Amino acid sequence: MDSSERPVTMEKVTSLCKRRGFVYQSSEIYGGLASCWDYGPLGIALKRNITEAWWRDSIVTRDDMVGLDTAILMHPRVWEASGHVEGFSDPLVDCKSCKQRFRADQLTSERCPECGGELTEARQFNLMFRTFMGPVEDTASTVYLRPETAQGIFVNFENVLHSSRQKIPFGIGQIGKSFRNEITPGNFLFRTREFEQMEIEFFVKPGEDEKWHAYWKAERFAWYQRYGIRPERLRLREHTRDELAHYAKGCADIEYEFPFGWSELEGIANRGDFDLRRHAETSGKDLSYFDEETRERFIPYVIEPSAGVGRPLLAFLVDAYDEDVAEGEERVVLRLDPRLAPIKVAIFPLLRKAGQPEKALAIRDVLRQDFTVAYDQAGSIGRRYRRQDEIGTPFGVTVDHQTMHDDTVTLRDRDSMQQVRLPIERLVAELQGRLKGPLAGDRAAGGGS
Ligand code: ATP
Repeated sequence: MDSSERPVTMEKVTSLCKRRGFVYQSSEIYGGLASCWDYGPLGIALKRNITEAWWRDSIVTRDDMVGLDTAILMHPRVWEASGHVEGFSDPLVDCKSCKQRFRADQLTSERCPECGGELTEARQFNLMFRTFMGPVEDTASTVYLRPETAQGIFVNFENVLHSSRQKIPFGIGQIGKSFRNEITPGNFLFRTREFEQMEIEFFVKPGEDEKWHAYWKAERFAWYQRYGIRPERLRLREHTRDELAHYAKGCADIEYEFPFGWSELEGIANRGDFDLRRHAETSGKDLSYFDEETRERFIPYVIEPSAGVGRPLLAFLVDAYDEDVAEGEERVVLRLDPRLAPIKVAIFPLLRKAGQPEKALAIRDVLRQDFTVAYDQAGSIGRRYRRQDEIGTPFGVTVDHQTMHDDTVTLRDRDSMQQVRLPIERLVAELQGRLKGPLAGDRAAGGGS
């Protein structure tokens, strides 16, 4: 389908998110706090399914990966070593007339884009949020809210190496909050000032870095497709030489075609030995690795697949959004991968009498032990299906007149809308089978072995 024919718009997605409880504006009753968002009951379920899928695929099912969860506040020297104190900034200009502030690198003219007024010279504006630790607010007590989770991994490299008995090549993954005082936040969850990241730092022997970089680009690109993103809306864009950070040997972005254009979901960089070398120099600690097989000592190179959570979540929502005609009625349907869907199965008694609600509730109690379940007895059955289609619930179970005689129910599929009748005792196994999806074993074999 041509992108101009896509039914989805950002307005439709944001309004669905609010209406059905995926995402709300932060502090809305006070007028909202710019670029901060709260995840509602369905949003947190979707977010957890995404982060759990990432954690399972990146860490739990691999021998060469371990997990970590580090503090948001870190020693201020970490950010000197990483280059963030000096270099993590955007050039800013102010309008002398309307006083608005813009990123100089995003302007297309030399005048203010709002009022046409004269602009000041560009100044560097650091994107890190600063605060103070302890009761005294002075330079010595300044700490930063981390702008990325990666540094927590680098400073723990030695700890993890010695306590987990890993050998290079191996990686460390972390999911957590990061903060950036973005000058031009926007596009809903796409660019926010508080966000979550899912980051991997994969440590390799110098010389094997390019092979591993290629491996992680392919692996991460495949991951989004494995969870249902349409391949034609994904692309891997290699950075040009002048886009590369000075230390990076190479970088590619996984981009998704949002309604507002192609934009980055994840960056996969070959960072060379920049980070460990800088931390070794700044801290005075030896962060080199001794390879017992080859008797060589070296500072590992690092491949970094660094994803957000909000951006992939928005991409999954946008990509899943569809409108069609079902059972003679127009419907909105989220064609989410069943593994990501906030609610896996909805139970409906056809009638609110004749013992059907009691029967349906008993089935709900059984299914609840294995799945997230919704129970709905309000309104016509068509409307109840629509309500679940709109939030992406892949399966619906209906208790009807026949159920009361022979203990069978109908199982409806969200996408095909086909219904099959099956005995209640087979429901759990049937749903488990349908929810499995492609196995993680489909993944290409490791690039380093
Ligand atoms: P951009 O160029 O869009 O600002 P970036 O290249 O600075 O992004 P990275 O530093 O590579 O981003 O961060 C890795 C990932 O973290 C991004 O691919 C994105 O998914 C996520 N991320 C970064 N900044 C934000 C933000 N302000 N809001 C939401 N997610 C973000």
